[in-house]
Amino acid sequence: RAKRDGGGVARRFDPVLFAKAEQRRLAEQDLMRGLEAGEFEVHYQPIVDLDQGGITVGVEALVRWRHPEKGLVPPALFLELAEQLGQVPRLGGWVLEEACRQAMDWQNRFPGFEMNVNLSASQLGNPKLIDEVREVLRRTGLPPQDLVLELTESVALTDLVESARVLSALKELGVRIALDDFGTGFSSLSHLSTLPVDVVKIDRSFVQAMPETGGASVAEAVLHIARTFNLSPVAEGVEDAGQAERLKELGAGRAQGYHFARPMPALGVTELLDKQSPVVIDVDADVAS
Ligand code: C2E
Ligand code: MG
Ligand code: MG
Ligand code: MG
Repeated sequence: RAKRDGGGVARRFDPVLFAKAEQRRLAEQDLMRGLEAGEFEVHYQPIVDLDQGGITVGVEALVRWRHPEKGLVPPALFLELAEQLGQVPRLGGWVLEEACRQAMDWQNRFPGFEMNVNLSASQLGNPKLIDEVREVLRRTGLPPQDLVLELTESVALTDLVESARVLSALKELGVRIALDDFGTGFSSLSHLSTLPVDVVKIDRSFVQAMPETGGASVAEAVLHIARTFNLSPVAEGVEDAGQAERLKELGAGRAQGYHFARPMPALGVTELLDKQSPVVIDVDADVAS
């Protein structure tokens, strides 16, 4: 049935729009139910040291939804909705605590083993974040320098001045900050001088566009920038041996990607570490000061 609103525009029942709204309502309900039921898990992807023969020196925590019907759901399919529902600070807080607890377990055998945790814009904008990170470090006992908080440029950009303030406060706790997917956002270079960043994660699109031998690449340019600003680089999305070799030659230092290991449940990392000789991983003499 057609209806006229104040603007005089004809509106009628649109079955496609209706179906979309209905789908969204169900997705919201399902997500809230999943959060309530505690269906989320943290998987971990190894980060390796290229100069130490590719040993695992840390991991990145990546959230997944263990859905009763859909199976393991990746964050791309639920994080945005969780953000819109205002649930990311709560979910992210849980991920942080879970990851730090797990890191301490691995640190018993590998002192200095590092944990990277992603932060979203809503977490960075939450005034409780600093207290929350301080409390998690206290409760779990994880040395602050072994926690790396990752944020993308779009997150940092939301409010640059406020971001710089929050990041400085986090750094006072002793944790380190990584700029994730580096190079994919806007005015990346100006951020490096404005934000107190320690690590840059070179986006996988640049790693995958790298020529195997010779030829300049964006990855190489980003590595130069990292050195210039005294930042530790981590190459993301390394999928083959050629890329790994080239990155090592270019002095990338650390890398992450399917070539080394996929994200996996905590037990998988424990098994991987069991096979690795119990060397002391902590080589960050520079952060001890
Ligand atoms: P990210 O932080 O850049 O994480 C790296 C993503 O690249 C992960 O996807 C990982 O599985 C994937 N990846 C790793 N190696 C390779 C590779 O060799 N090739 C390819 N093609 N992909 C690779 P995932 O786990 O689906 O996460 C996607 C994004 O979701 C993350 O990107 C991060 O921005 C966000 N995310 C994940 N967990 C959390 C979380 O706990 N909190 C927040 N706020 N965001 C999260
Ligand atoms: Mg360390
Ligand atoms: Mg990340
Ligand atoms: Mg990334």
